Amino acid sequence: MSERVGYREAEVVVAGGGTGGTCAAIAAARNGMDVLLVEQDGFLGGLFTGGNMCVSTVRPWAGIGKEIFDRLFDMGAATMHPDDPSNYPIFHHRSGAARTVPYDPERAMLVLFQMCEEAGVRLLLHTHVTGVVMEGNVVKGIIVENKSGRQIVMGTIFCDGTGDGDVAASTGAEFTRGLTRDKQSFAMTQLIRLSHVDWKRVSEYSKKDPGFDGAIRRAKDELPYYTPRTRDMIPYWGHTRPELARLWYEDGALMWGGTVVDVDGLNVDDLTRAEVEVRKQWMSELNFLRLHIPGFEKARVENSGDAIGVRETRHILGEYVYSGHDFLEARAFPDTVAYAVPYFLGVPYRCFVPKKIENLLIACKCLSIEPGQASSGPTLGAYNHMKSITTVMSYGQAAGTAAALCVKNEVKPRNLDVSLLQTALTEQGALVGPEVIAELTSQKLPSGITLGESFQLRRNAWKRRWQKRGYSFEVPATDEGEDESEPLFGR
Ligand SMILES: Cc1cc2nc3c(=O)[nH]c(=O)nc-3n(C[C@H](O)[C@H](O)[C@H](O)COP(=O)(O)OP(=O)(O)OC[C@H]3O[C@@H](n4cnc5c(N)ncnc54)[C@H](O)[C@@H]3O)c2cc1C
Repeated sequence: MSERVGYREAEVVVAGGGTGGTCAAIAAARNGMDVLLVEQDGFLGGLFTGGNMCVSTVRPWAGIGKEIFDRLFDMGAATMHPDDPSNYPIFHHRSGAARTVPYDPERAMLVLFQMCEEAGVRLLLHTHVTGVVMEGNVVKGIIVENKSGRQIVMGTIFCDGTGDGDVAASTGAEFTRGLTRDKQSFAMTQLIRLSHVDWKRVSEYSKKDPGFDGAIRRAKDELPYYTPRTRDMIPYWGHTRPELARLWYEDGALMWGGTVVDVDGLNVDDLTRAEVEVRKQWMSELNFLRLHIPGFEKARVENSGDAIGVRETRHILGEYVYSGHDFLEARAFPDTVAYAVPYFLGVPYRCFVPKKIENLLIACKCLSIEPGQASSGPTLGAYNHMKSITTVMSYGQAAGTAAALCVKNEVKPRNLDVSLLQTALTEQGALVGPEVIAELTSQKLPSGITLGESFQLRRNAWKRRWQKRGYSFEVPATDEGEDESEPLFGR
């Protein structure tokens, strides 16, 4: 490989052009910055596109995320998931299925390129970020490698959109890992897009064998590589059955393929092992569907994404760490700049600013959030509820806009006047007033209660669970809570 050292510069440099990073770049460019977006793949979108997610937990209701999905709907590349109660036990989002949005990741890649082009973002694809140039605790540049050799990209403000906090970790920023007491991370899963599924017959069968429990019992010994997922496993949101969603085309299905545990997304040997293992697992799962579930006999694999899906690695410690308590108490923050969707909870700006490191903002899922989840698991945390596609898009927009304001006002992110950022985000439609949130959460669900009431009941049920384990919460005695057996969101 060539050893030439090249030089580039930009006002705002975004490392990682995934779900959050791309939104950060678009936001910074729309706010008048010269932006360079550095991405190791040949496309934008990360897990949202190449990772084959194909299903968003909810249709975004604000900001750049909304624009992306509006464009996908206009192109016929996104639909609302059908509300089909007989299939709830196998649908990924259970009774929330009717609010989820299947979308075409290929056309999403196109939309992201278009939006970057329109905003004037400069792209540097096929380029891996390998290090940083520091002056004390101030980031001055990043070191990148690509087919042209090694280069330095200097900038005024940097956004880390690598999903793993690669830039932040290179600066020496503090971070935490994992959700269990022994620091295990969430399991990895590969997202598999299928076609030739006859959903009418699947639904008919599902009525007779809800959740495919009978078929799974019959097929038990035929699934040598498939780890049955149970709640007490490390990924602890698990299900003992295949997990599926319908797609934007009639005979399409997304299969959550495999559950690879005890692997570290920052260890290349583990990643290598996980890629080999997950394929065995999901092939086994697919064979089960073909042999035992009417409607899947002719199912074909259309796409298995560009790599196994890594749910969790680093959590960069910021000026504030969003906790499981904050989530369960639905705490309001005066410096809210983004939202945890679909819960309509505000995320404070301080989570975007790494402790001690200057000129750096976090623009992806490795934001300063307590690992774990609030519904169950070995430790109480919030991360799993705060990493959905639309949530991370709002992180990106907040970080990119903050970066632009820091350049314009010649201040470090730590010293940015948050009210300026909130005004800019409100003008750009990314932050909405309480009246809009009240209207959105007042939607009635089929059960007769509103969306907001449903979240509250669910949170109360979860609080009671943690109360029994010695955590301190106040929960109304009168409320009986919702069915806790199937967590709705946050996979
Ligand atoms: C198995 C699985 C299931 C999920 N289910 C759901 C769901 O049902 N609903 C939902 O809404 N969300 C779901 N999510 C979560 C959601 O997809 C992610 O949390 C979100 O997309 C993460 O966005 P990000 O920007 O942080 O990371 P990414 O989208 O992964 O972006 C990171 C980008 O940085 C690039 N990059 C990384 N390192 C470097 C480097 N050193 N140099 C250059 N570029 C680099 C990557 O190539 C990538 O493009 C799921 C995730 C997984 C893995």
